Amino acid sequence: MTPRNQIRIKSLAEVDILRKAGKILSSIISELKSSLTIGMTTKDVDLKAEAIIKKHHVLSAFKGYRGFPGNACISVNEGVVHGIGNGRRIKAGDIVSLDVGIIYDDYYSDTAVTVPVGEVAPEVKRLLQVGEASLHKGIAQAKPGNHLSDISYAVQSYVELHGFSVVRDFVGHGIGRQLHEDPEIPNYGVPGQGPVLEVGMVFAIEPMVNMGSHRTKVLSDGWTVVTEDGKPSAHFEHCVVVTQNGPEILTG
Ligand code: MG
Repeated sequence: MTPRNQIRIKSLAEVDILRKAGKILSSIISELKSSLTIGMTTKDVDLKAEAIIKKHHVLSAFKGYRGFPGNACISVNEGVVHGIGNGRRIKAGDIVSLDVGIIYDDYYSDTAVTVPVGEVAPEVKRLLQVGEASLHKGIAQAKPGNHLSDISYAVQSYVELHGFSVVRDFVGHGIGRQLHEDPEIPNYGVPGQGPVLEVGMVFAIEPMVNMGSHRTKVLSDGWTVVTEDGKPSAHFEHCVVVTQNGPEILTG
């Protein structure tokens, strides 16, 4: 586990910038979400993301990050994370994960939501409900005095109670002046481990919840992560600051 001293504690002024960034990002993702329609390609979604990000006078945090070619990560059905907009058309009954990161005033913000398009199968609807609820179970543990793995345990235990699995190969992260800061925040683990949480820590908590096995693989484009068994996966993410009064969602 990452020692506590590698987790950057944000000042009130920094949290204020991250709060503004989060508000902007929240508007961006809701606009992108409502633009989704049947028949669009994921490339169309990416271009829409580019336009909305530009309209808000911020930068995409993902474009060019380690060579990532898209403006946002768009992952359909069996797509877990890091999907690149391409010629795939969105059909009724699909679920689409929209993951958007921005840079505002030299600070990063990161959020993701998985959206049903048209009528989805009941089991898929339940996957989305459990995925989103697991994020909030994790967030609820982001309070001073708790251990980092209390977040991980809360996510995993809730997801598994409902018969789904959590991805092990990708994790949440600290965030601030960099997109990925310490600590790594797995969505699995036993409680009471790792650093003690303190006021001013800022985390991007992001459960990836699979209907079948937790196993994933990366496609030949070097980015797109899909479930190994081809079953659907849901992804939800918020940035959260630990405050004296408990967790505050910055991207809500
Ligand atoms: Mg993230």
